[in-house]
Amino acid sequence: MRDAGLIVARTLELLAAAVRPGISTGRLDALAEESIRGQDAVPSFLGYHGFTGSICASVGAEVVHGIPRADRVLHEGELISIDCGAILGGWHGDAAITVPVGDCDPALLTLSEVTEQALWAGLRAVVDGGRLSDIGAAVEAVVRPHGYGLLDDYTGHGIGTSMHEPPAVPNTAPQGPGRGMELEPGIVLAVEPMVTLGDPAVTELDDGWTVVTLDGRPAAHWEHTVAVTPDGPWVLTALDGGRG
Ligand code: MG
Ligand code: MG
Repeated sequence: MRDAGLIVARTLELLAAAVRPGISTGRLDALAEESIRGQDAVPSFLGYHGFTGSICASVGAEVVHGIPRADRVLHEGELISIDCGAILGGWHGDAAITVPVGDCDPALLTLSEVTEQALWAGLRAVVDGGRLSDIGAAVEAVVRPHGYGLLDDYTGHGIGTSMHEPPAVPNTAPQGPGRGMELEPGIVLAVEPMVTLGDPAVTELDDGWTVVTLDGRPAAHWEHTVAVTPDGPWVLTALDGGRG
């Protein structure tokens, strides 16, 4: 799974560098597929329940599951989240980043930075002897003070020989930490906070995929795949394993 995770990490690094005003989400998708296949892996999103991309490209008010399109060109000042998955030898990696397109409003940059900080707070809770709700509690502790919206009807997930496995990994912990499944070495989870600048209420578009905020305000989404080890969290989709 580390090898699959590294393929995702390198692909997202390449895509982050490619984001600029004028590039289409379809072009980013083509770059992703080329990168994943060039590393002898298979894009896990392509064909998943009929999904037509190798990435999800979610721009502006789109929170997650945006479909890449040749005619969706990025504009200066937008935020794009890029979610990417790869399968190597039957094992999955899954990660997402949010990237500003050119010069962005500082409020959007802060939204993305706080979401990434919340992700890392959640990842640090993925430890031997911890409990599942420690993750959501850690995410909430970072996000709530900013007054942002935090999606609770979409979650992270277990991951292994399938992209989505039990358990669901909530980004909130209504009853606090110390609840839910006990974490132990060998468990691998995808942690993925989805955070909105405004209200967290969302709806799915008629395309059957794209999740957008009802108030039309922007969102950010960051994700990593992380393994519980005796030595702490091993972030399989981070180039340095999260230990750098
Ligand atoms: Mg993902
Ligand atoms: Mg995921």
